[in-house]
Formats: sequence, structure tokens, C-alpha cells
Amino acid sequence: QWYFDEDGDLSVLAGKTVGVFGYGNQGRSQALNMRDAGIDVIVGSRSDASAEKSQEDGFETLPLAEAARKADILFVLVPDEVMPAVYAEHIAPNLVPGNVVNFASGYNVHFKKIVPQDDVDVIMLAPRMVGQGVRDTVVAGVGFPSLVAVHQDATGHAWSTLIALAKAIGSTRMGVIESSFEEETVADLFNEHFGFLHAVRQGVEVLVEKGVSYEAAILELYASGEMREIGQYFVDHGLFDQLKLHSRTSAFGQLAWARPSPEAEQASKDHLRNVIDRIKDGTFASKWQEVQEGGMKEFEAAEAELQQQPFWQEELKLYKRLGRI
Ligand code: NDP
Repeated sequence: QWYFDEDGDLSVLAGKTVGVFGYGNQGRSQALNMRDAGIDVIVGSRSDASAEKSQEDGFETLPLAEAARKADILFVLVPDEVMPAVYAEHIAPNLVPGNVVNFASGYNVHFKKIVPQDDVDVIMLAPRMVGQGVRDTVVAGVGFPSLVAVHQDATGHAWSTLIALAKAIGSTRMGVIESSFEEETVADLFNEHFGFLHAVRQGVEVLVEKGVSYEAAILELYASGEMREIGQYFVDHGLFDQLKLHSRTSAFGQLAWARPSPEAEQASKDHLRNVIDRIKDGTFASKWQEVQEGGMKEFEAAEAELQQQPFWQEELKLYKRLGRI
């Protein structure tokens, strides 16, 4: 179900202070949008750089714990991987019954890395938009979609608070969709695990195997910028309707010729089902925690291994020649 501006009542936020914790991609844009909507916003920040920026933008800026004591509604907008520690150290000890804790991603609550006390509302307002776009689309008057959910309703009016906040950040202008912490987490991780990077890598490697130079293959598949244009067509016209902007040869090739055989499609869907199962059963979340606790050695090893591959080396040469690095 969708909710729009007319479903949100900003007066439920009257007299409330919203604390934005983390003044980064999402934090800054959401704070500016809420202030424009007439909401009383303060910023909680640890660092000189973020604190300086929010002060420059005119927000009262306090250390995290102090801001947590002052705020009634807390937007937890630090990176997901540091969020459990920031929450445990600065936020949880300063919550009082009736506070509202808002997340922009379901990850830490869904996987129980954060388990909020049961006398606060726990809601999610997850923009389907990068941070800068959260500001730019609202300034342009169009807004952006979000997934929204109530995880815990201690006050009995978590939903009306949530929709009012969705309106305050400018999202109900385009519309928000009722979701759940689990749905947002699964869909978001799936987007990242879907395999797009490796599909492009495999495309380049096979073209090279079949006699195309690395330069031509890399330019063709992404470096020319054509893919960015096509991505914009997807957004503006839809996945298949955008084909009308291509030549007939290209449209037929993409639509019909590129379609995998039923057996190949079955195999790739089986792979994707497995990807989702490993997200849903927590295998990925446990692994990611283990990697972080191990000092990110496995992350660095995966990167180092790929950096040794001809693909990465050839891309580096091409990008130097193009003056991009
Ligand atoms: P950013 O990486 O932009 O946020 C960084 C902010 O968090 C900075 O102000 C940074 O301050 C602060 N910070 C970083 N580490 C710490 C720490 N250890 N202690 C205190 N403050 C810290 O995050 P995003 O805005 O990208 O993400 C915030 C949330 O929004 C996440 O839950 C994410 O999943 C969600 N989200 C993000 C989207 C996006 O497009 N970026 C889209 C939708 C949801 P400092 O200057 O001190 O480093």
C-alpha cells in the first residue's frame, strides 16, 4: 500500500525534537528537508568534519550522547557496520520511554545486531534514493520513494509518527510503500549480491577470449558511458519499454536473441534463489560480522586477488590513458 502527502499530518511532530545521528549522505539531506518542513532538528555528531558541516548549515550540533538525551525522535544515520556500537554506546543508554528510533535500513534490527528496549517506538524510513538525491529531488519538487515500516509500536501511534516523518523528509510527495524491516533488508542485499559486477567482468573476459581487445571490450561494456545512458532509460521508460529508443537490430537482439534458454534460465534462477536463501537465513550477515571482527582481512584478500587479474590491470591501463585516474 502507498501513502502520500495527504496521509501525513505534520502536527503530530509539534513540540518534538528530531535528532539526526550521523551527518553523512542521508543525514545531511534528511536534516535539511525536515528543517524546511518546519521540524525542530538537531544533529548528533562525533567528528570535527561532520560537526563542522552541520554547524555551517546552521544546525545545533552536539556530541552523540548529548543529542540522544535531547531528542524525542532519533534518526540513526551512521553507516550500518558501525551502527550497533554507536547505538550501544551513545543512544541506548539515553533513551526514555516514548522515544522514537528511526532507521534508514532494516539490516541491524532485522538481524538483531540492535535490539531496542521495548518501551520505544522502532520505525524504518528507508529512502530508495542516494543521499544527495534525497535533497535534490525535494528541492526540485518531486520527492523520492521510500519503504516504510513499524517494527515496534510502544506508544500506540508509531504509524502516524512514521508517515508524518516520511512527509517531513519529502518522501510522501512521490509516495512511500508499506514494507517490513525484513523485506527492505532482503531486497537491498539482493540488489548488491545479484551479481551485476561479475556479469560485466565475465562479459569482458569472454569478449577477450574471442579476440576482442581489452580496451574495446571495456569501452563497449561500460567505460564509454553508454551504460549510464541506458540506465537512465530504465529509470525513465522501464526495462523493456526503453527498447524503443534503440535501433531495431539492437532491440531484437536484446529482447529475443539474448534471452537465455529455459535450462540456462532455470540454472541462473536457482543460483539467485540460493543467494536469497543465504541472505534470509543470516549466513551473509554472520559472515560479514566475522570478516569485520577479523580486521577486514578477507575483504582485503578478495580485493587483492581480483587486482592481480588481467582484467583489473588492463582496466587500470585504459583508465590512465583516458585520464580518469
Ligand atoms: P554515511 O557513510 O554517509 O554516514 C556517515 C556519517 O556517519 C558521517 O556523519 C560520519 O561522521 C558518521 N559516522 C561514521 N562512523 C561513525 C562512528 N563510528 N561514530 C559516529 N559517527 C560515525 O552513511 P549513509 O548516509 O550512506 O547511511 C546511513 C544510513 O542510511 C544507513 O543505514 C544506510 O543503510 C542508509 N541508507 C543509505 C543510502 C545511501 O544512498 N547512502 C540509501 C538508503 C539508506 P564522520 O564525519 O565522523 O565520519
